[in-house]
Amino acid sequence: MFDTLSDRLTSVLTNLRGKGRLSEADIDATAREIRIALLEADVALPVVRGFIKGVKERAKGSEVSQALNPAQQVVKIVNEELVTILGGETRRLELAKTPPTVIMLAGLQGAGKTTLAGKLAKWLSGQGHTPMLVACDLQRPNAVNQLQVVGERAGVPVFAPEPGNGVGDPVQVSRDSIEEAKRAQHDIVIVDTAGRLGVDEEMMKQAADIRDAVKPDEILFVLDAMIGQDAVTTAEAFRDGVGFSGVVLTKLDGDARGGAALSVREVTGQPIMFASSGEKLEDFDVFHPDRMGNRILGMGDMLTLIEQAEQAFDQEQAEKAAEKLGTGQLTLEDFLEQMQAVRRMGPLQNLLGMLPGAGQMKDQLANFDEKQLDRIQAIIRGMTPAERADPKIINASRRQRIARGSGVTVGDINDLVNRFFEARKMMQRMAGQFGGFGGGGGGS
Ligand code: GDP
Repeated sequence: MFDTLSDRLTSVLTNLRGKGRLSEADIDATAREIRIALLEADVALPVVRGFIKGVKERAKGSEVSQALNPAQQVVKIVNEELVTILGGETRRLELAKTPPTVIMLAGLQGAGKTTLAGKLAKWLSGQGHTPMLVACDLQRPNAVNQLQVVGERAGVPVFAPEPGNGVGDPVQVSRDSIEEAKRAQHDIVIVDTAGRLGVDEEMMKQAADIRDAVKPDEILFVLDAMIGQDAVTTAEAFRDGVGFSGVVLTKLDGDARGGAALSVREVTGQPIMFASSGEKLEDFDVFHPDRMGNRILGMGDMLTLIEQAEQAFDQEQAEKAAEKLGTGQLTLEDFLEQMQAVRRMGPLQNLLGMLPGAGQMKDQLANFDEKQLDRIQAIIRGMTPAERADPKIINASRRQRIARGSGVTVGDINDLVNRFFEARKMMQRMAGQFGGFGGGGGGS
């Protein structure tokens, strides 16, 4: 699921890499590509519109992070907008203050309600709850039996009308089940209801009657992510007919385009709470909008890098350094600070490895010696503040002292000091040519 969408988004955003600056035209072109990718994935049109508007406004707006380059910023914005349409925060089950908590399942036939009942029950048992399943799908032959099989696999009891009592009244069964749960001390009741292949009035009415009888704490609308465009209309019908407090996406293991499922939260206003991704009881999890967003964007490593860069980045320090660069006043102290800021993001080897396209650099990376950086840091730390500000004043005997103190040779110190002077001279020359650089402006 989402593979095609994921590939498309990744390639659109990868095209931005290497651009030092994004023009309005770049952003518009990118937004257009994203729009096509979303529409092709079956995301509902109003959702696509809102998404694109958000991305454009933010990418063109004043939201400029000094820690990120323009391409990274767009990736970040797209990722955040994706997480937003998926619901933002993870939504947990609301448990009743006085048990039993009643969870009612609603959805079309074949959506995966019965299977979900078992998954949910098993998951809740694992957390120390004592759930009970209730068979209120009395329409479909074999539905009760199917729930019993599922209950057995999940190791939880199933409340169902006695066989031989005719078809039975699902509303009465649901009502009785609450009494039974109280008696047998089940703290959670999961009510499986009937579904039809298409939405119809009778089914809605029955679901609404069950709802009124058991007053559920949660009504979960179970949605087959494979049904494509119909997902949105079905969700709307259930919202209007029964109402629900959360959505469960099923069959996420399928190869449908999945975009309709991406629209359901935005269209109905209710959060996706669980995801089901297979026929086994274990193929089930709490739905985390952020993780799903990252998965869809398929740029997990890039996003990690962005997060780390933002955390490690100290705006004030960087501006100070940029200003000094412009006037050629950089000191070893600044150099040390910058180096520490970069290293706070983790070992350089990992850092570089996360950059897209770093593949070819793998060999060089493997030989990169982090100890060299340790050595440079140790040398600078061994200097006095005055020496860091102006390394010219470090005479021969001080060089020997610093070398002894930091476990390096005098040659290492000479190397560092000479390279520093050269770098500073070059910056002064460039500053003269270009009238200064840095001092704020787009980060990189
Ligand atoms: P119900 O009519 O809503 O109760 O749906 P069922 O629970 O009977 O599920 C209908 C079919 O979908 C069954 O064959 C299930 O095994 C299958 N199914 C349910 N959930 C998933 C899932 O997450 N992935 C896959 N691949 N199949 C599922």
